[in-house]
Amino acid sequence: MKKKILRMDNGKAVYDNQNSLTAGPRGPVLMQDILLMEKLAHFDREEIPERIVHAKGAGAHGTFTVTNDITAYTKASIFSEIGKVTETFTRFSTVGGERGSADTARDPRGFATKFYTDEGNWDLVGNNTPVFFIRDPLKFPDFIHTQKRLPDSNLKSNEMVWDFWSKSPESLHQITTLFSNRGTPDGYRHMNGYGSHTYSFINGKNERFWVKFHLKTVQGIKNLRSDEAVRLAGENPDYATQDLFEAIEAGDFPKWTMYVQIMPETDAESYPINPFDVTKVWPHADYPLIEVGVLELNRNPENYFAEVEQAAFSPTNKVPGIGFSPDKMLQGRLFSYPDTQRYRLGVNYNLLPINRPKIEVENGYRNGFMRFDDNGGNRPNYEPNATGEPAEAAGVDEPPLKVCGDADRYAYDSDENSDFAQAGALYRLMPKNEQEDLINNLAGSMRGVREEIVETALEFFYKADSGYGSALAKKLGITR
Ligand code: NDP
Repeated sequence: MKKKILRMDNGKAVYDNQNSLTAGPRGPVLMQDILLMEKLAHFDREEIPERIVHAKGAGAHGTFTVTNDITAYTKASIFSEIGKVTETFTRFSTVGGERGSADTARDPRGFATKFYTDEGNWDLVGNNTPVFFIRDPLKFPDFIHTQKRLPDSNLKSNEMVWDFWSKSPESLHQITTLFSNRGTPDGYRHMNGYGSHTYSFINGKNERFWVKFHLKTVQGIKNLRSDEAVRLAGENPDYATQDLFEAIEAGDFPKWTMYVQIMPETDAESYPINPFDVTKVWPHADYPLIEVGVLELNRNPENYFAEVEQAAFSPTNKVPGIGFSPDKMLQGRLFSYPDTQRYRLGVNYNLLPINRPKIEVENGYRNGFMRFDDNGGNRPNYEPNATGEPAEAAGVDEPPLKVCGDADRYAYDSDENSDFAQAGALYRLMPKNEQEDLINNLAGSMRGVREEIVETALEFFYKADSGYGSALAKKLGITR
């Protein structure tokens, strides 16, 4: 076979890639060494802005196979028949750390999957926890700042973290998961994934259901204890990345079973828990898990940057039969995710091979930086037009959503105790040894934090469960 030869970006063949062009054997480099200039200039621009959250990640291609009929709830074509297979790409991540940070840090894990359906891309952009720290997107930048670094020393700060949490009682449920051993999962294969937010399904009769998505690991839950996680952060900061890549390379393909919880649309009005509050779960006793299918990861990326770094997930990527809900955090993410991708990758990020739907996309969007396809050729860039194409589709609209009330800035309509009930339930379902680890992990994080902050936070733990509060107070050496 003919050998490929080395070329510059314009196609010019390179005859010497070892020696710069100089004025004489000992003289300075010439400006006209266009090979050197181009090579350095390209290298200088290799890094793109890292994601403000979820910067460190790993990903893999896979498939989603339907195993149960849920067409009574959704008309989404991905679920149309048992046995139907859809190609996927999944990216796992930590949240607060930078692109080179340790995989085993105590942090929620991102679990985002792009389903390349025959109706366009659907992204389920979730975490390994069913709830979140806050439920109003207005608080998101403040919350994330506390997870990042101090403005002067550039150090992380438990004081900042607990200062914020002690003033955000709705965080306690997620804090309880985070400081349990589930806050340090043993790689990405042994954790569950959750859509976390409430979404909606629309069926063939145009009826709406509220839905929560769950992805349960078939490998079984496996967590690291705190000391192991800290050790691994030093010995192998890429522990989870390596584990995922090597398992897939060896043909040991990880799988997750997808389940949904379904709430009829009108239940939302009377259900005692606000179903659009992302700091709360829907108890299984009220809304049991319904099996949907299996996600299998079976192909590693060939190029990390092209496939993982450039992968752009957004909850705005949805298909007919799947919709949003009044969940305020979800509404905030509908803005911030595509906005982040436009900033990171440019306005045409959906044209990149990893993000492009597998179906043909025709619309009037044109130009913009890095438009690297035919830019719509000579086809009309407006609609309606005389050719009749692209035409609006029939049957993909949603039923109207009833909303009422005066525009205002409302707090979530829960009574104060409802912020603590599920945190207490979670604490009580943990076996004794896990409760002990949780208390140790919490105390480790709170030690050294200003007393009044610790005292305020402690109140929340007592309210969740008096045993939870007193165990933590005892560990911290606080008597009352
Ligand atoms: P259930 O007893 O029906 O479910 C308990 C859930 O907790 C299961 O999903 C279980 O599944 C998960 N779980 C078990 N051990 C732990 C642990 N150590 N840390 C975190 N999660 C664990 O009760 P409810 O549905 O009434 O929920 C009770 C509490 O369970 C909730 O307050 C919530 O904190 C937690 N939970 C609930 C979920 C839900 O969607 N209802 C989902 C996850 C947690 P698995 O081990 O497969 O994760």
